[in-house]
Amino acid sequence: MSKEDNYLLKNIWPQERDFMARPDRLQYVRKLTRPKACVFCEAKENGPSLESLCLYKNNGVMVVVNKFPYNTAHLLVIPESHEGDMLSLNEETYLEVQKVIRKAVGALREIYNPDGFNMGLNHGAVAGAGIPEHIHWHIVPRWNGDTNFFPVIAETKCLPETPQQSYERLQKEFQNL
Ligand SMILES: [Zn+2]
Repeated sequence: MSKEDNYLLKNIWPQERDFMARPDRLQYVRKLTRPKACVFCEAKENGPSLESLCLYKNNGVMVVVNKFPYNTAHLLVIPESHEGDMLSLNEETYLEVQKVIRKAVGALREIYNPDGFNMGLNHGAVAGAGIPEHIHWHIVPRWNGDTNFFPVIAETKCLPETPQQSYERLQKEFQNL
């Protein structure tokens, strides 16, 4: 190997290419940032706070702003008990979840006036649950024309508001829930 080749190997990055640095997007890359403890149980311990993004906790059910939102003000309705199987929830808790879902939709409508909602449950990892060990229902507000090319090509959603801003806007509504 000549002296010059050796210099090239040592000093030039072998796969140099253009890239776009967006460190603020890291928080949405869930696979890289998923912590080991159950985040929903942590939110339960901390109770309602901006830090935990827990908006509401009552009668065994809580509402949390999703840290990895599919859309602005994406909420999760979560039983307090750490269960992955809906059949393990007692009937009282299950019914309370349904009541809270309806109240949360009312609160979202009040603050954000969405045109519609996607609501539902991914039961089990194979069904797409991000945290399959602790069951949670999604409420995703939808507005006409709210999709763009980002989720299609980059599995990334570009949103006008951070989860923390959504929390602050919704906080008052959930205090009176
Ligand atoms: Zn849990």
